[in-house]
Amino acid sequence: MALMTGDNYLASIEKLDHQVFIQGKKCLDVTDHPISRPPAMAIAETYFQAEQAETKSLFTAQSHLSGETINRFTHIQHSKEDLVKKILMLREMGRKTACCFQRCAGLDCLNTVYAMTYDMDQSFGTEYHGRFVDFLKHVQVNDLVTAACMTDTKGDRSLSPSKQKDKDQYLHMVEERQGGIVVRGAKLHITGAVNSHELIVVPTRALKEEDKDYAVAFAVPADTEGVTFIYGRQPSDTRRLEERRSDVGNLFYGGCEAMVVFDDVFVPQERIFMRGEYSMTGRLVELFAAHHRASYGGCKVGVGDVLIGAATAIAEAQGTRNASHVKDKLAEMIHLNETLHAGALASAGKGYATASGAYAVDPLLANVCKLNVTRFPFEISRLAQDIAGGLLVTMPSLDDQDNPVVGKYIHKYLVGKTDVDSDKRMRLLRLIENITLGTGAVSYLTESIHGAGSPQAQKIMIARLADLESAKSYAFKLCGI
Ligand SMILES: Cc1cc2nc3c(=O)[nH]c(=O)nc-3n(C[C@H](O)[C@H](O)[C@H](O)COP(=O)(O)OP(=O)(O)OC[C@H]3O[C@@H](n4cnc5c(N)ncnc54)[C@H](O)[C@@H]3O)c2cc1C
Repeated sequence: MALMTGDNYLASIEKLDHQVFIQGKKCLDVTDHPISRPPAMAIAETYFQAEQAETKSLFTAQSHLSGETINRFTHIQHSKEDLVKKILMLREMGRKTACCFQRCAGLDCLNTVYAMTYDMDQSFGTEYHGRFVDFLKHVQVNDLVTAACMTDTKGDRSLSPSKQKDKDQYLHMVEERQGGIVVRGAKLHITGAVNSHELIVVPTRALKEEDKDYAVAFAVPADTEGVTFIYGRQPSDTRRLEERRSDVGNLFYGGCEAMVVFDDVFVPQERIFMRGEYSMTGRLVELFAAHHRASYGGCKVGVGDVLIGAATAIAEAQGTRNASHVKDKLAEMIHLNETLHAGALASAGKGYATASGAYAVDPLLANVCKLNVTRFPFEISRLAQDIAGGLLVTMPSLDDQDNPVVGKYIHKYLVGKTDVDSDKRMRLLRLIENITLGTGAVSYLTESIHGAGSPQAQKIMIARLADLESAKSYAFKLCGI
């Protein structure tokens, strides 16, 4: 099959018979619901970009399995250039959508499981890699979206999975059946889950022998029996339900997460990629984390570009653009944003080939990149809000402009410079509000902290990966010890 178009993608999700609940009600078509349509449109954009002459080379790749042209979001990276192109593609998507476009976790998970199944076969004589390659062919040939289901509900964080009072706080195997296994548990915060064709499930932490039943990895179609999606709420999401959607800020796109429940789901043998190999879970989590932490230096940087653009435009509209402190703040925002990108690109530039042949990023630099991501978007947002002024959070609705009684006051008093009308100024402020406080802040801010692991997870990896013994020896040599 050729690459899907954006419209084909939307039609394929509409056809999915998956169980989705939004605000207490079953949703029959996520592509048509006012709250969940913008996230579906953001993913559709990843297909649209692969069709465009200007972006095609970035958004497509040559499959190492078939030699065919595939969407880069389904590609196994086989060179440093591939790693770099992924980061550049993610930045481009961030710029085009100013939201989480929901495909990098799935891509990073494909690359992780590809490498890990190879390693497991080498260590244990299992047959996981061939199965995974078959699954990958299915994804590439049909141009599908995959969601990465890693994060468990975790209950008491101080206890390991098997020590939890409720054993289902981490997803685990509950039964072996003819031709497969049955799993139970729930995965939280799953980005793009309701807009994905396939769910890839992997363990969320390093496991010990006592937690063997939790060491499972597999893939199931989103409409598998027993799988239920409960859609996550976002700040000001119901503005999308208003008649004219005037105050949504981002008119076209959004991100989404869901709680994904696996209530005794049967997984056939051919879709199982790990079953009990607990000693490999630590490496799997670290490899995924490295891939995914580098991704944040692409997508968030693209959203940062939009925020910096909006901050520049609002400064122009309000007559402050040439003030020295505003110029300085814009330069600071650019500096922070490009620093994020530099870390991601450097991690790709120092990438390496895994035993499977798939490439992985340098883990130390990927963790440094992500630790910066947990901080810099907040500072960029603070500076954007500083430049924007208080109207960002006190302004009336854009709809008030059309009211016969108050409209004239809005048009008179909420203008900026002489040639800037209230509509232009308010739209820019709404976009800044969306990214720093509204639906967009879910991914630009809170996901920047916790997505791909909370800050402490990066600190632990940085401390572990840094070569302090070499550093000490340089110091000793120079001071004559
Ligand atoms: C917008 C968004 C999108 C996401 N998308 C995905 C996705 O697509 N797929 C996916 O699998 N996951 C996804 N995640 C999940 C993300 O990886 C987790 O949020 C992250 O790993 C933190 O886990 P948690 O939310 O359970 O918080 P917790 O683990 O509860 O962390 C909260 C705090 O407790 C601390 N803490 C946790 N455990 C311990 C401990 N044992 N001892 C001491 N301190 C501890 C942490 O350091 C942190 O400060 C997403 C998250 C967000 C916010």
